[in-house]
Amino acid sequence: MLEKLRELSSHSQSKYYSFPVSCILECKDGSLFQGVNVETSSPAAGICAERNALFQALAQGYQKEDFVRIHIYSKSKNNITPCFICRQALLEYTPKTIEIISYTDDGNKKKFSLEELCTYPFQEEDLK
Ligand SMILES: [Zn+2]
Repeated sequence: MLEKLRELSSHSQSKYYSFPVSCILECKDGSLFQGVNVETSSPAAGICAERNALFQALAQGYQKEDFVRIHIYSKSKNNITPCFICRQALLEYTPKTIEIISYTDDGNKKKFSLEELCTYPFQEEDLK
C-alpha cells in the first residue's frame, strides 16, 4: 500500500505548498478510490486528497456503509490525519467504524479511528 500511495502522490497538484498528499479509500467490495490534493491559487477552490477520493466514490454510487478503510500518505515525518474539513466529510459519509491509516515516507504506519479524531462532532442531529 505504501508504494501505491507514494506513486499516487506524484499526481498531486501542490505547487503552492509543496505538500503532496495521496489517499486510497477502500470499499467492502474491494474497490479502491484514489485521491490526491489539488491546490489552486485561490486556496478554497482546491481539495484535499481524502475528499477527492471520497467524493469520487460517492459519485460512483458507493454509500456510507460501503467504506472500510482510508489510507493516507504524505512525505511528512509525522503520521498526518485528515484536516477538519475532511473529518466533517468523513463523519457524514463514512461509517464510524472506518479505519484511518496514515503512512509516513519511511514506512511508519499509524491507525486512527474517526471517533478519536472527532471527539465532539457537529452532526446532522444538531441542525434540528
Ligand atoms: Zn482535508
